[in-house]
Amino acid sequence: MRKKIVAGNWKMNLDYNEGLSLFSEIINMFKDEATGKQQAVICSPFIHLHSIAQLAKGYSNIAVGAQNAHQAESGAYTGEISAKMVKSVGAAYVILGHSERRQYFGESNELLAKKTDTALKNDLTPIFCIGETLQEREANQHFDIIKSQLVEGVFHLGETEFSKLVIAYEPVWAIGTGVTASSAQAQEIHAFIRKEIAAKYNQQVADSTTILYGGSCNPKNAPELFEQPDIDGGLIGGASLKSRDFIDIVK
Ligand code: PGA
Repeated sequence: MRKKIVAGNWKMNLDYNEGLSLFSEIINMFKDEATGKQQAVICSPFIHLHSIAQLAKGYSNIAVGAQNAHQAESGAYTGEISAKMVKSVGAAYVILGHSERRQYFGESNELLAKKTDTALKNDLTPIFCIGETLQEREANQHFDIIKSQLVEGVFHLGETEFSKLVIAYEPVWAIGTGVTASSAQAQEIHAFIRKEIAAKYNQQVADSTTILYGGSCNPKNAPELFEQPDIDGGLIGGASLKSRDFIDIVK
């Protein structure tokens, strides 16, 4: 059985104190309401990571992660944060390849392949994001785009390393827009991703890879999305900034 995960992506929101109060609320609600089956991950700005990792200690079903990490191990990269640093404060996950990083920071598949290697080397679980733009979907290129993001970003990995990844399908046109993919559209792509993984590795690797859906996911649409056979949870942006909404999605 593959792991079901709901991960929150706070993006560049919440100052230090706001982040700590939100995380405390989330922990308290999770403690009271979760059944023990769910795995929640909060991907905060770097600033919060150490403190929220401390708060999460003792809760095996809540983990924390970063939203990015540099491809180099260390060195003269003013202003950057390494995977080793992220790991050292107690984080277990790192989001890589989010469309906002691809779009605003020019992160290519080639760069993301290096970031994935470095994250894995430092014992972080990458949540590797892929997804097409509206233009690409309208031009019927979505399958090709997703395949090339997989091939160039993560298919260089050997089977053992690949098996450590979480994949997140996030159609760019659904992120922060309030327009979610329909459950049928999302399922179609998730099944395609799983098929590509099976073709590259084998069916067992494909069956055990957690594939999350992201893009305007909320407590209303989550049940139908998560019911799909190839959707194993979500990567949640806007709704992860409200404890009630986030916990309802987790539940
Ligand atoms: P959203 O963001 O839920 O606000 O659409 C998702 C994401 O960017 O991970």
